[in-house]
Amino acid sequence: MTTTPVKAFGAASKDADLKEMMINRRTVTATDIEIEILYCGVCHSDLHTARNDWGGTQYPTVPGHEIVGRVTQVGDKVTKLKVGDLAGVGCLVDSCHTCESCKKDLEQYCSEGLIGTYNGPDKHLGGYTFGGYSKKVVVDEHFVLKVPNNLNLAAVAPLLCAGITTWSPLKHWNVGKGTKVAVVGLGGLGHMALKLANALGAEVTLFSRTPDKIQDAKDLGAHNVVISTDEDQMKAVTGTFDVIIDTVPTIHDINPYVATLNISGTLVLVGYLGPLDPFLNTVPMILGRKSVAGSLIGGIAETQEMLDFCGANNIVSEIEVIAMQDINNAYERMLKSDVKYRFVIDLATL
Ligand code: NAP
Ligand code: ZN
Repeated sequence: MTTTPVKAFGAASKDADLKEMMINRRTVTATDIEIEILYCGVCHSDLHTARNDWGGTQYPTVPGHEIVGRVTQVGDKVTKLKVGDLAGVGCLVDSCHTCESCKKDLEQYCSEGLIGTYNGPDKHLGGYTFGGYSKKVVVDEHFVLKVPNNLNLAAVAPLLCAGITTWSPLKHWNVGKGTKVAVVGLGGLGHMALKLANALGAEVTLFSRTPDKIQDAKDLGAHNVVISTDEDQMKAVTGTFDVIIDTVPTIHDINPYVATLNISGTLVLVGYLGPLDPFLNTVPMILGRKSVAGSLIGGIAETQEMLDFCGANNIVSEIEVIAMQDINNAYERMLKSDVKYRFVIDLATL
């Protein structure tokens, strides 16, 4: 298969800074769309992958799965978009299309294994997929999203991961008018969770360690803020929430949050991946029919539903646009929770 060399930014090893490199993109097949990438959001997962926090990173790695841009070429059989249209690509670029999950529009839970936008096995070229810190990407049309054209394009990018990752559990657990929702952590995912839960009509609370974020949280859609390190504030919300979306990226004690669930409430982990420590105490779960669950991004149809909802309700991410060359500094700031509330790379700088 023929390829085109494309400029990108990636890491050569787990300890290396990201720097400019060349990668190959395949020539469009009949069902492919080529997109000139204009903006790419910076997810904490990009950092986890670049630094091999989860193991399994294939180097060199080019992160980035919050991609928006313009269509520059389409294959003969493409019907979804045409040259010149806006397009988005999120965390998925392929799946088996035939398993039970794929048939139910749950490609993220594909039983053959989802193919991530980066660090996924590349079915076309062999090797591993490269993400959105690059000038162009070629993706099968099924995995390309239509982007509403009434929104600030750079601020749409984070919807492709931070947006869908919080939207999917909010929808799955039926959040709407009358639901009491809490969000743990005000970062990229957390700020989208506040906006989306508020727009769905829920009563929204933020749990944060950071008192400086109280006003921002209220501006973003939280009706209440609980400082999670303050025992009295935590006690005051015992037994309150129907759904909690926990976005904290590192290991932490979730038992204090389980205590704030109402009877039959569910805490959904979307941030930390790994064994819990301290252990989960089952007593409050059994005595209150409470659940602790997890959730992974969202399927393509659900991602489109979220983008359309954001278009109709004028919802975008709060962003700080950076040059490609500032990515290493941006990662350091992200580790200090010094992001308001998502970095987005302007690919014109690459
Ligand atoms: P982020 O922008 O860095 O935000 C994380 C927030 O969590 C911080 O702003 C901070 O908020 C809080 N926090 C950080 N360290 C903490 C600690 N030690 N204890 C308690 N709170 C802490 O990250 P993000 O991009 O939103 O991503 C969050 C996590 O979700 C990452 O691990 C990422 O890999 C994962 N993720 C999962 C999925 C999925 O499909 N499940 C998809 C995308 C990302 P406060 O200052 O308010 O406390
Ligand atoms: Zn992400």
